[in-house]
Amino acid sequence: MVQDQDTIDAHPVFYLLSFHIRNVSNCHHHQIPLLFPCSRSQVLKKQRIGTLDMLYGAVDLQPRSFVQTQINTATAMVLPLQASIFVPPTSTMVAPLRTKQMLVSDVFQYESNRIFLHWKDTRDPSLLQWSRTPSTIFKGLARGLLQLQPYFVPVCRPAPLKDLEVSFAPFVNQLISTDGRSSVSAKSFRLAVLSSVTPPSTLRNVSTAHWQMFWSLSLTTLQRNVVYRFIVGCIPHRGFLHHIMPNIFDSSCCPVCLLATHSASHLLFYCPSKEQVWQGVIFEFLCPTTSISDIKQALLSLDFFDIWYCQYRGISSYRILFIALSQIWLAHMRYIFDQVPIVPTAIIVAIRSNIRQTIEEDRCNSLL
Ligand SMILES: [Zn+2]
Repeated sequence: MVQDQDTIDAHPVFYLLSFHIRNVSNCHHHQIPLLFPCSRSQVLKKQRIGTLDMLYGAVDLQPRSFVQTQINTATAMVLPLQASIFVPPTSTMVAPLRTKQMLVSDVFQYESNRIFLHWKDTRDPSLLQWSRTPSTIFKGLARGLLQLQPYFVPVCRPAPLKDLEVSFAPFVNQLISTDGRSSVSAKSFRLAVLSSVTPPSTLRNVSTAHWQMFWSLSLTTLQRNVVYRFIVGCIPHRGFLHHIMPNIFDSSCCPVCLLATHSASHLLFYCPSKEQVWQGVIFEFLCPTTSISDIKQALLSLDFFDIWYCQYRGISSYRILFIALSQIWLAHMRYIFDQVPIVPTAIIVAIRSNIRQTIEEDRCNSLL
C-alpha cells in the first residue's frame, strides 16, 4: 500500500491485484477501497467470498485511527467524499445517497493558488450533474450537521504550499504504527490482528503449547476433524440444526435415544450408547478412576496431563481418546446417513483394532 504505482505495476501479482481492485471499485487508486470500507463496491456483498473479500477482511482486522493523519491537498482531492465527511452523533441529518458516488474533487476545489481547498460555488456548472446533493452537503457543513474528518480539516485552511503528489502513506502509517514498528511484516500484522480480536472462550481454553502439540501429532483427517469441531463448537447436533433450520429438523431431540435435547456433549459422550463406549474404553485402556467428564475436559483443552495413564504399551492415552472419539463420530454419521444401527460393542471392536493398528504403525516407523 505504500509503494508507488510504477513499483506495483512491475510486479505481476501486485499489478493484477491493484488492477482488479481499481476495476471492481471503479477508482484510480487501489489504496482507497482498502483503507476506506465506505468506498467499496456494494455489489460485492452479494457475491461469494472472493479474492477481494479476503483482502478487505484481512486489512479490516488491522486496527486503525486516522485522527493524527496529515495529508496534502492532492491526496485529499482524490478521496471519496464519504471518507472526508461524517455525520456527528448529535446530528439527525442523513447524508444524501448520491454522496456515495462522489469524490472530494466533485464538490471541492483549490483556492488561492492551490494553498487550500474550499467547496465550490453552488452556481458552478460542474455541480449540475449532482442535482441538489452538493447544496445539501454544503448547508450541512455550514450548520455543523455534517463535519469534516480530522485529517481533512487542515487542507481546508490556508497553509504553505506542500508536495502535491498523491500519497496514501500517511494513512497506511497509521495502520502499522500501533506496535511501534515502521515497516509492515507478516509478524507485525499478525500481532496487530491478535491484539484487535478477542478469541472465543472455547479457544481460550487451549494454551499455545497444547495447540502446538495438537498440530504436531500424526492423526488421521477424521481424528483431527472431530476434535477440532468439538473445540470450536462446530458439531452439527440436532439442537443446533433445529435452531437454524426448524423446517427441516422439526425436533431438537437426540435422533438416537430420542430422549435428551441434542448437544455436542450428548452426541459425543452422554447419549446412552456413546456413554457405554466410553465406559468400555476407560475399563480396557485407561485408569479405571477416569470419568467421562475428565475425558471431555481433556479433549476441550487438549491438556491430557490428568489422564496420562494407559493400560496399553506403545500408545499414549490421548491417542486412544482421539481414536475413540473419531470412531463414535463415524458411527453416529453412519447412523444418520446410512441408517446403520449404533452398537457399542461394535464401536469398541473398531476402536481396539484402530489402536492396535496405530501401535503397529508407530513400531514400524520407529524401526525405519
Ligand atoms: Zn441420545
